[in-house]
Amino acid sequence: MTYIITNLCIGHLDQSCIAECPVNCITTDSNRAYINTEECVDCGACEPVCPVDAIYYEDDLPINLKNEIDININFFKE
Ligand code: SF4
Repeated sequence: MTYIITNLCIGHLDQSCIAECPVNCITTDSNRAYINTEECVDCGACEPVCPVDAIYYEDDLPINLKNEIDININFFKE
């Protein structure tokens, strides 16, 4: 299990999460941020600092955002 950044980040890119992450596993493109699930240590530090509540523990993702797991994983495969 890991933390996931969802599409709620789009248009915000606040990047507070990046400042909090102790292992630098959060990356952005021009639209939003993504968590490298291979490197995330599940510390939870990023989740409370997101101003738009875009970050979820994988198990807590709403059903309509479950596809964001693959979106985060695939971002780092490219
Ligand atoms: Fe980084 Fe911790 Fe958030 Fe994982 S849970 S992305 S390690 S701050």
